[in-house]
Amino acid sequence: MISPTRCPFCNDILVTAYHRVSKNTSLEMKSCDKRIDHRIQYTLNTDGSVYSFRIPLLEKSNATWYPNNQLLIIYKEGTGATVNIPYFEVGNRPFAKLVHKVKTYITFS
Ligand SMILES: [Zn+2]
Repeated sequence: MISPTRCPFCNDILVTAYHRVSKNTSLEMKSCDKRIDHRIQYTLNTDGSVYSFRIPLLEKSNATWYPNNQLLIIYKEGTGATVNIPYFEVGNRPFAKLVHKVKTYITFS
């Protein structure tokens, strides 16, 4: 999964930021967070491929895809709790349908 330069939901140019994780290592992050109907964030590997893809959910939680490991994990912010749900590709479904699919999996996890 190569990092897109545009948001797959609104086609805006993704905003790039760097998050320093150690003295010599920074992770490149690309996000779209200006819209009210969706927010997304990619974290990239050093070769530019996607390490993770994150979307916020309601109730202070988020869903994060790890395409290389085929993992999809729900993180509950502030609690450290995680739930693994069955992995599926983000694909090109509308954002609301993506959130709905994640929530359906959470309900049955
Ligand atoms: Zn967008």
